[in-house]
Amino acid sequence: MKPVESSKQTILIVEDEPQLANLLRDYLEKSEYRTRIIHNGLQAVSAVRDFAPDLVLLDLMLPGKDGVSVCREVREFSKVPIIMATARVEEIDRLLGLEIGADDYICKPYSPREVVARVKAVLRRSTDHPSDAPTGLVLDESRFLAEWKGKNMDLTAVEFKLLKILARDPGRIYSRSQLMDRIYDDHRIVSDRTIDSHIKKLRKKIFSVVEDEELIHSVYGVGYKFELKPPGEGEGSQTVAIHP
Ligand code: CA
Repeated sequence: MKPVESSKQTILIVEDEPQLANLLRDYLEKSEYRTRIIHNGLQAVSAVRDFAPDLVLLDLMLPGKDGVSVCREVREFSKVPIIMATARVEEIDRLLGLEIGADDYICKPYSPREVVARVKAVLRRSTDHPSDAPTGLVLDESRFLAEWKGKNMDLTAVEFKLLKILARDPGRIYSRSQLMDRIYDDHRIVSDRTIDSHIKKLRKKIFSVVEDEELIHSVYGVGYKFELKPPGEGEGSQTVAIHP
């Protein structure tokens, strides 16, 4: 889901103690972050997909699914910074050994101020090193995985192929029949409308992760093309990386 408000960063709080979760929310919102709260481990992974948070505060002990499993599952599709909270300092060594991919660990009981400081530090670290993070579109054919700045678009195979054809040659205009030729072995079974409806769904999915620009443009009466915002506009140039 696309955040509707300003440029505030969103923190997803996964914490089963409601009072603690609310306290964290209050402190984070005072520091100009937007927050979402999930109390159950079972909903945590889909919440990361739906809210596309800028950072996840993840408690280790959760009902439904523990923090380690949540962290592992999130890492399968997202590089979002994760701060994991544990009740025992000895746990941290064990968690580090598991290499689950969390960015930082914090020990309970903590002060909300300390949590806010860690959140700021981790976010700073992740934005200070833009070279570590994808700066645009990444397409991985082996897994049909399409990511924008690390956020998975969740495409179907056909949507992935369409995006790949268009993105391989930014600015080039493809007609509907050219797209059909490249996607279907026998395109007598599909019509122009099929392409239009796939493009429509694809754009909707792109819209859910790409905040402020259109990647696929319709060219009236002709077809479609892929284009990124030209360098110089916004926060720097964006790239396309296609892996076979
Ligand atoms: Ca807990």
